[in-house]
Parts: sequence; C-alpha cells; structure tokens
Amino acid sequence: MAILEVDLEDNFGKYDRVNLTIEIRKDASPSQKAATLLHEMLHAIWGESDLTKKYSNDGEEAVVTTLESGLYSAMINNPKVFKYIMESGGAAT
Ligand SMILES: [Zn+2]
Repeated sequence: MAILEVDLEDNFGKYDRVNLTIEIRKDASPSQKAATLLHEMLHAIWGESDLTKKYSNDGEEAVVTTLESGLYSAMINNPKVFKYIMESGGAAT
C-alpha cells in the first residue's frame, strides 16, 4: 500500500482499489491528513473484505466515517492503549 500526498480539489483523500494506493491532499493540516489516512485505510479494509457483498455501497461512507471518527478520537485520547496494541502485535518499537 503506497501513500501519496497529492493535489486534490474535491476531497481530502482517495483510495484506489486498482493500484492499491491512498492519496492524501497535500495542503491539508497534519491532523486532517492523519484522520484522512485512517478513513481511507477503512475504505481499503471495506473494499478488500466481504462487506461489499453483504451491504450496499450506500452504507460504506457512513460506516467508514463513523469508525474513522471513533478510532481517531480513541487513538488521540488513549495513546497508551494503542502503544500496547502495537507492541503486543509484534510491531517494532
Ligand atoms: Zn470516504
């Protein structure tokens, strides 16, 4: 998965299911870029899972936006919890 900072006019980010890239609007604020990256990662998970077959695409944006907001807030407000997850999952420290 490649993450590219590019000029985007209509939105803050875009997930390309064919090329497996996430584009982030390069003139967005750092916090907006972070939230957008999380949002587009959730679109990628949705797109690569069976959720596309089980639910209509109409629900994708609402689900992704709700999860993005909740996860982003949880990550910002609970860094020790996410550090624990990262370290327990075998991520390099
Ligand atoms: Zn979206």
